[in-house]
Amino acid sequence: MYYIKYDAVTNYKIKEYTSGCLRVSSRYPVHVSDYYVGLIQNKGDAIWKQCMPDPQELEDFDQSPDPLNETSLSPVPGLIHRYPDRVVLLVSSRCPVYCRFCMRKRLVGSSDFQMDEAGFQDALKYIAANPSIRDVILSGGDPLMLSDETLYRILSRLRSIRHVSFIRIGSRVPVTLPKRITPELCNILGQFHPLYINTHFNHPAEITDDSSKACSMLANAGIPLGNQTVLLRGVNDSAEVMRELMTGLLEIRVKPYYLHQMDLVRGTAHFRTSINTGLEIIRSLRGHISGMAVPHYVIDLPGGKGKVAILPDLVERKGDILLLNTYTGEKVAYRDLTAVRA
Ligand SMILES: *Cc1c(COP(=O)(O)O)cnc(C)c1O
Ligand code: SF4
Repeated sequence: MYYIKYDAVTNYKIKEYTSGCLRVSSRYPVHVSDYYVGLIQNKGDAIWKQCMPDPQELEDFDQSPDPLNETSLSPVPGLIHRYPDRVVLLVSSRCPVYCRFCMRKRLVGSSDFQMDEAGFQDALKYIAANPSIRDVILSGGDPLMLSDETLYRILSRLRSIRHVSFIRIGSRVPVTLPKRITPELCNILGQFHPLYINTHFNHPAEITDDSSKACSMLANAGIPLGNQTVLLRGVNDSAEVMRELMTGLLEIRVKPYYLHQMDLVRGTAHFRTSINTGLEIIRSLRGHISGMAVPHYVIDLPGGKGKVAILPDLVERKGDILLLNTYTGEKVAYRDLTAVRA
């Protein structure tokens, strides 16, 4: 699968890139929606870097393709059960754009990985047999690449399991293929509340009239929208870009949820920043912009040990005295009066 649109603006630049593209695309799928390629303004800009294959993807062999051990945490194929009360269901292998930094680079775009009816039945049986599962997260690939009919079928069968209290969908479709968010789709999704969607904006240039409209349609269907951003070197690893992104998201009714430290996934090393970069960004957000706009900065620990949130505020702790950083940079000692003395 290989398709890049020759755009009036980007035509020449994309052609110049193709020999490198072809080598990468024999290993990792390349696909960019017309809409998303149209957001590229210059070779090497933030949109370009996220979607255009880079020969550096082939030079990174140190890391595992599956550092989070998703495969071994899969009691049935396509279902990841890492936390007691929630599971991830990989219902689709396709995406409108194959992001070069994808943490499921090993799977996306591969037809072997598309969940079929038998696989879905097995996953449903597993969920039905485990009453501790309250939260089912549809992921992939992108679940909104499935047809309306398939989505309806999946959602209604999940809803029929009593102990599944709510459903989440992880989707980058509002960002990369906003016209897929149709009134018909919203009408279907709106029948399965409580349903949450976490989308995936990484850069303010992705907040366009089209993506804003897609989010607004989903929000009007009663779906609370969250956002998961991946911290990407050369794309959004600066305080100014993150501030604009996070406040811009609130303006389109999307609540920033997570800022992800890049997973240690093979083929993505050129995107990774240091943890300090992430902490500095959080420091530049907290207190300076609405708390509503500040995501949790998380590291998803290798080996499937789960997500851990890290904060720049706590500097030191001595007994019941905490030394805390304020948003203006002042260090303030705070006594925890109810600390239990050991
Ligand atoms: C991220 C993730 C979840 C959801 O985690 P939350 O912190 O509840 O958003 C669930 N299962 C797996 C395997 C995950 O990677
Ligand atoms: S949309 Fe999500 S799952 Fe698809 S390639 Fe991008 S990051 Fe990966």
